[in-house]
Amino acid sequence: MAIGTLQDAFIDELRDSYDSEKQLIKALKKMAKAAKDDDLRNAFETHLEETQGQVERLEQVFGLLDEKVKGKHCDGIAGIIEEGSSVMEEDFDDATMNACLIASGQRAEHYEMAAYGTLVAWARVLGHDDAADLLQQTLDEEKAADKKLSALAEGGINDDAAGPGTDDDDDDEMSEDEPPARSKPTKVATPRKSNGAPARTARARS
Ligand code: FE
Ligand code: ZN
Ligand code: FE
Repeated sequence: MAIGTLQDAFIDELRDSYDSEKQLIKALKKMAKAAKDDDLRNAFETHLEETQGQVERLEQVFGLLDEKVKGKHCDGIAGIIEEGSSVMEEDFDDATMNACLIASGQRAEHYEMAAYGTLVAWARVLGHDDAADLLQQTLDEEKAADKKLSALAEGGINDDAAGPGTDDDDDDEMSEDEPPARSKPTKVATPRKSNGAPARTARARS
């Protein structure tokens, strides 16, 4: 058997990603079910549909390259999904579960971004420009999915998970005294000056 080339490695990585997307279709269904927030559930469901399209896009790429459509078990994403499922089995409150689902979702997106970044670069250098364009579309979707999850986390889900009185934002000095919505004992609301936020001490009194 001849020594393998970058072309062989490229086909191998395509098969790895093909398998990875199929694993993620199952995982995203579970994550959407586990989400306790409508926007988060929508984000997972939207990315699930995109992922089905990504599987088809990879089938197109195999076609362009005259290669058999075939997956090769992706150990990396299997590990990330495995970690995500153990988190889903934990007994977290709803808000914390949402934050944890985002955390595992973003691990998966970053793994995929790394894989597709390589695939696009290798497709280009090997002269497979049509394949590269298709793979770039998927890379863009993975990046957008990651950004969407960041926006949801930073747009309220992390604050909800941290609970009342733990908001680290700059604009919370007049925080409304919400009743504790969580089962944990409420901490005495000591002002947290030692959180390393220099903007606060530098700010002029109004
Ligand atoms: Fe994907
Ligand atoms: Zn892999
Ligand atoms: Fe993805």
